[in-house]
Amino acid sequence: MIYGSLPPMKVVKIGGGCLKDGKAARTIIQLIASRGQGDIFVVSAFYGVTNILLSGIESSLESEESIGKTITQLKTLHHEIIHFLFSDPARIHELKEKMDRVLHKLERYYYGISFTREATPRMRDMVATFGERMSALVLSGAVELLGVDTGIALPEELGIITDGKFMDATALMNPTGENLKAFMEREMTGSKVLFVPGFYGISETGEITTFGRGGSDYSAAVVAAGVRAEVLEIWKDTPGFMTADPDNIPHCRLIPRLTYEEAAELAYTGAGILHPRTVEPVRASRIDIAIKNTYDPDARGSLITGDAIETDRVIKSVSYTKDISILKIHASGVGARQGILSLITEAVSGQGINIKSVITSQTCISLLVSRKDIGRAHECVGNIRPIPFREASFRADVALVSIVGEGLHLNRGIAAKCFTAVSRANVNVEMISSGTSDAALYFLVQESSLDDTIQALHATFFD
Ligand code: ASP
Ligand code: MG
Repeated sequence: MIYGSLPPMKVVKIGGGCLKDGKAARTIIQLIASRGQGDIFVVSAFYGVTNILLSGIESSLESEESIGKTITQLKTLHHEIIHFLFSDPARIHELKEKMDRVLHKLERYYYGISFTREATPRMRDMVATFGERMSALVLSGAVELLGVDTGIALPEELGIITDGKFMDATALMNPTGENLKAFMEREMTGSKVLFVPGFYGISETGEITTFGRGGSDYSAAVVAAGVRAEVLEIWKDTPGFMTADPDNIPHCRLIPRLTYEEAAELAYTGAGILHPRTVEPVRASRIDIAIKNTYDPDARGSLITGDAIETDRVIKSVSYTKDISILKIHASGVGARQGILSLITEAVSGQGINIKSVITSQTCISLLVSRKDIGRAHECVGNIRPIPFREASFRADVALVSIVGEGLHLNRGIAAKCFTAVSRANVNVEMISSGTSDAALYFLVQESSLDDTIQALHATFFD
């Protein structure tokens, strides 16, 4: 499809997992040069760099002396990659100089944080984006060396506009789409490879705002939707979505096709294949998402599309997360007490804690939150005055299991099959949340029963 006067193009996201070191980067660079002309590459930081950047903030709050160490660590990491990828001394020098200029700027931010003893969300976001700026520099330079015309477009130049929420921004698709289209018409050629640092955009007032950890997938989806790409490819170091986590089920299989809904559900619990928000921007323009394995680029991978395909199997995958805990608020007549739910959720979200899910009955409100947040969440509700409940308790030794497949609620017997299998494995189901999604059924088990649960479910639905 041709969008206005834009030629058809792909948008490809390159994850940090594919950029572990110079050798891994070289594989990617060759793939880009041979397959990516005329396409846009949204890149993550080199592996581990965002973590270094963020812990650099904490250590500069503690002491000024740490800043030199952080900068040296980042410099060494990038210089090593540059030395691996380039051999011409003049090129190496030129690239290192560019890199050092970027690092110099970063250093000044760290000093700012250290002097003011304050790291505002604004500052944190600013610092966090340096990894993507640096990886784009290196990758673009290396692809250019292979005789390909390349360019870098920063999100602020492209006009990726966000709602301005630091550390958890959302792209505003209308202005972003217009800006992207105009930029591409002006700058893009049929043979150029354009690199875009992922992970962030700018607010309408020009603030750098990130899309949250792992947000480069979302960035790529925003760009893909904005330029009406033929396809959004996510390049990874894994084959794609699987019927289970290979750590639990070594003989699990690849899922060749899945729907947006299924992918979003699996992204939520599954093993980090895709950022949960990636489908949002592309869904409306029905752009397919292809997960590709860079170690086997001709393999089929997983294709995520708008249409459910008819197969005899409704369930596509069994997945889980251990990053869950449950806060139980016992109160009588929950359903008859106006405002109790909002009182509790406001107390928790007011402290910046994300509530993953809420399940209520007449005697109990259960909030599911990340494990790292459970202690604080418990405290927050304990501070509500007057106390609107009888007792609040929490459990962190649970895991959230899901079976995922679009249409599972329309097919008779799936839930029965699921819970029969779980019960035969002698596992007690602690809590069920069903009916909220068309593509998933969730329940909680004790963490110690997780392995048995996954084995039993995979055997039932796939073997
Ligand atoms: N580099 C960022 C992170 O580690 C964004 C991303 O890789 O998607 O969270
Ligand atoms: Mg990632």
